[in-house]
Amino acid sequence: MEKWSPECIAENLRRIEYAIGEACAKAGRRREEVTLVGVTKTVEPERVNAAIAAGLTHIGENYVQELLAKKPQLHLDGVSLELIGHLQTNKVKTVLSQVDRIQSVDSLRLAAAVSKAAQNSGTTARVLVEVNIGEEQSKTGLPREQLTELLYAMSEMPAVSVEGLMCIPPFYEKIDERRKVFSEMYQLFLDIKGKKMDNIDMNVLSMGMSADFAEAILEGSTMIRVGTALFGARDYSK
Ligand SMILES: *Cc1c(COP(=O)(O)O)cnc(C)c1O
Repeated sequence: MEKWSPECIAENLRRIEYAIGEACAKAGRRREEVTLVGVTKTVEPERVNAAIAAGLTHIGENYVQELLAKKPQLHLDGVSLELIGHLQTNKVKTVLSQVDRIQSVDSLRLAAAVSKAAQNSGTTARVLVEVNIGEEQSKTGLPREQLTELLYAMSEMPAVSVEGLMCIPPFYEKIDERRKVFSEMYQLFLDIKGKKMDNIDMNVLSMGMSADFAEAILEGSTMIRVGTALFGARDYSK
């Protein structure tokens, strides 16, 4: 196993905090406008807990199975647990009561399943809609031309509260190309916000990862999802 220590994770968190502060200052934004989500896929509960002890307040998991297995060991008091990975309709019922927010709603079918499950359990599901902003075939997320239509449908769903948008843009080598995609996403976010749909809030724009969160903040991100920079390279061998 790769060596780690709580001090090392705390130091990584401090470094990320510093970079967030710098990006906010450069963008003329307040630090409180940006939420840091620590991405914990493949990361053991002990390491996740070390990050929480060091001040991390939001956790993002990709896989329902892994999330359920790790959750009992996590110190989640006051911490928001979020699903950021692709969600299959048949897993909705299982995961809904286990997370604080689902960031990856990307189809009408999935949205309807989430609404139904929430309604059956007497809750309201907090969700983001994931947009395939790079229009990549291989990626999850809704094509942007379908976004308005999905949101209008979701605005009629009684047990879903749409809080914003999420995206995983294509990986471009050039940072300027990444910024351009982030800026397109921000524009889309503003356009939707301007439509003032019932039951649809546009308060959260979840974009930016370890390699590009500073650029995402410069382009209007309100939520960055950071794994590698916090926990080190992922070990998929286990
Ligand atoms: C893995 C993952 C991240 C974090 O990526 P890093 O490059 O390790 O920071 C963010 N968002 C999603 C949806 C992910 O799957």
